[in-house]
Amino acid sequence: PSQKLHPILASLNPAQARAVSSDAATVAILAGPGSGKTHTLTSRVVWLVDHVGYRPEDVVVATFTVKAAREMQERIGKAIGNGRERKLILGTFHSIARRYLAAYGRKIGLSQKFGIADDGDSRSIINRIIKRLQLPLEAPVARAWISKKKAKGTDVAAAPARQKPATTPGLQDLETCYAEYQAHLERSNLLDYDDLLVRCVELLQKFPSCVANVQTVLIDEYQDTNGVQYELMKLLAQERRRITIVGDPDQSIYGWRSAEIRNLWRLLRDFPGTDEISLEENYRSSQSILEFSLQVIQQDTKRYQKVLKPIHNRGTRPVLRKLRSASVEAQWIVSEIRRAIYMSGEMLNHGDVAVLLRSASLSRHVESALGKAGIPYKMVGGFKFYERAEIKTIIDYLRVIHQPENNDALGRIMNVPRRGIGEGTVKTLIEEAEKSSLSLWDLLSKHCRGDRQAKTKITKPAEQKIGGDLFRLLNGLRKRISEASESTPFGLVELIQHLLTGINFQKWLQDSQPEEHEQRWANVQEFVNMAADFERDLAQVGDDTLPEIDGLEQSTEVEVLPKFLANVSLASDAQKGEDGQENKPVVTISTIHAAKGLEWPIVFVPAVYTGSIPHSRSEDGDEERRLLYVAMTRAQSLLYLSYPMYISQSNGGQNELSPFVEPISSSFAKKGPCFERPILSQMAQILGRELPSESAIFGSLPLNFNPGDDLHPVDPEESLKNLDDKRARGGEGEQQAYWPRSKRPRLA
Ligand code: ATP
Ligand code: MG
Repeated sequence: PSQKLHPILASLNPAQARAVSSDAATVAILAGPGSGKTHTLTSRVVWLVDHVGYRPEDVVVATFTVKAAREMQERIGKAIGNGRERKLILGTFHSIARRYLAAYGRKIGLSQKFGIADDGDSRSIINRIIKRLQLPLEAPVARAWISKKKAKGTDVAAAPARQKPATTPGLQDLETCYAEYQAHLERSNLLDYDDLLVRCVELLQKFPSCVANVQTVLIDEYQDTNGVQYELMKLLAQERRRITIVGDPDQSIYGWRSAEIRNLWRLLRDFPGTDEISLEENYRSSQSILEFSLQVIQQDTKRYQKVLKPIHNRGTRPVLRKLRSASVEAQWIVSEIRRAIYMSGEMLNHGDVAVLLRSASLSRHVESALGKAGIPYKMVGGFKFYERAEIKTIIDYLRVIHQPENNDALGRIMNVPRRGIGEGTVKTLIEEAEKSSLSLWDLLSKHCRGDRQAKTKITKPAEQKIGGDLFRLLNGLRKRISEASESTPFGLVELIQHLLTGINFQKWLQDSQPEEHEQRWANVQEFVNMAADFERDLAQVGDDTLPEIDGLEQSTEVEVLPKFLANVSLASDAQKGEDGQENKPVVTISTIHAAKGLEWPIVFVPAVYTGSIPHSRSEDGDEERRLLYVAMTRAQSLLYLSYPMYISQSNGGQNELSPFVEPISSSFAKKGPCFERPILSQMAQILGRELPSESAIFGSLPLNFNPGDDLHPVDPEESLKNLDDKRARGGEGEQQAYWPRSKRPRLA
């Protein structure tokens, strides 16, 4: 039968095409990195909308990061057109849950104006509870315990109590902390990340009609779903039980966040007849990068074996380097970046480079080396724009405007700018409020109105500044929002501008941070720009409300503020990727966790020593190995691993190479490639780019290019010897360039 091939299938390999067009209700694609899982999932959405004829608003797609959601939406948009991709219910599990709760949360007793407590908020609330009740607990432990307990999901929570060890030490304290924490969130009308999922599960269990329209649910990075997310997936799909999942057990790296690999087997059990498809060709990496990565993951003998074959050429061998110290390591990375870019002509740019770190705290040296070399970079995952003090303050103000009962936010802004209230007083006030079951806002309002029952200890001038200035300003802004109409609009940007003037924020920055106020004010301006973008996007896209369902009334969020705040909270989670400046080609510094699913032509993985990877605090060595595997498989054509010999001067002992790399360490190259033509040509093939002419390469070399400078690979022994010499003379170590004459490229 000569059926005309749908264009979306034409570019896929047979297994991918079969997955995209499968008629089975449930489809599971388990396959290795770079085999096109995400590509296939995206194509299947297009197929379902374009060929099968589902309305985009009836299709739910869950991705692991906000960034992945955006990219996927864009790609789908190109295929289905007319802005129809905007109608998909597409996002992270958290953002999908938030959408349902905003629309239907009233049915389960949620106030429409709920706010979101992000990780930082949760941590500080728990901290305060522990201090107040003097519980013998450590805040991070308590936080993790509570989160685990919530994330286990409703079915597990309902499981028989035998799972609970009867006498875990501290269990009683943990339970107390949990109860207090939950009560606090409820009083402040906040949901934390776990609640978003748990409450959405509750909603969809009790009111299945909310998802009556949903035709099908598709999920990327399935191996990292946890128990609640699994429930949520089933509930979203409860009407027609059509689900497509893609994942790779070898890339499961969120066990510490209660992700459960066994969700894979659960799915096969709960949905018999699932069409299982494997994809076996790796489209991402050079043959040698793939081989080295597989050698790492194959050390895990218990894993579920899969076939993964390279389709590309061999490419250059990955590099493994031992450097003197972390700062020398960072310098080496910078020199390798510069070399790769210069020596490839226009073929590679800064945007092609990623430095992937086991933990955010390692970024310092890399950042400073890039900064010194004038190489632009951006940080992803773990280090956030929203975490900066001045931005956090504005966000807290906006949160209090939206939700006066948010004690934490109000507590943080009460004395910023200074209003003569010490930190201690704020704490006491919050405690007083909590004792009398009032919100801090209500307590203070009553006090300032002279209510005798609400007497507090704040001084007269402070009272004036709070009741008179702060509350009047915020009430005024709140009023303007609620009275806004077509004829007298009061938008987000206007709100923020009024706020900034109202509290005289620029002046405050000048007074309190004379040295950095310019940078900080620039950040504030950037935040205003982001708000403007958000507002404009929203106007173009229309609401992110859910499709109409007969007989069901949705709450509509008319105000843009809550949407903006939710967007901020959900984006500030460490795993959620990225903000702003997408277009400039800049080097990416990211945690490995946040790099999942992404790819770059050039990848550096520094700090591959025992204690870093595997991390000294990790309990699961296999997960650490998978993490390294995820990092290595992000690379398309160049992969550099490295580690510093010493962590710091004070630390006497030497670092040991990670045991995951040790067994294969002798097969790595010891220095970066020389970018001779055959090498460049192989890279061009892998990346699908044009090979620049030799003259173009010559032309792109900087004028001050000098074959002896740091554009050249560094010989380890030479550089260390040199360092030792310098050290002996008392100088800080700096690396020396070395490149045998015979290996230098011909320049003319
Ligand atoms: P990961 O496990 O890391 O998330 P993945 O399996 O999701 O990887 P993708 O990111 O979908 O893999 O694909 C990897 C790369 O291969 C992408 O650049 C994608 O465009 C490309 N690719 C996938 N399938 C094909 C194909 N049939 N033809 C050409 N390129 C493809
Ligand atoms: Mg993927």
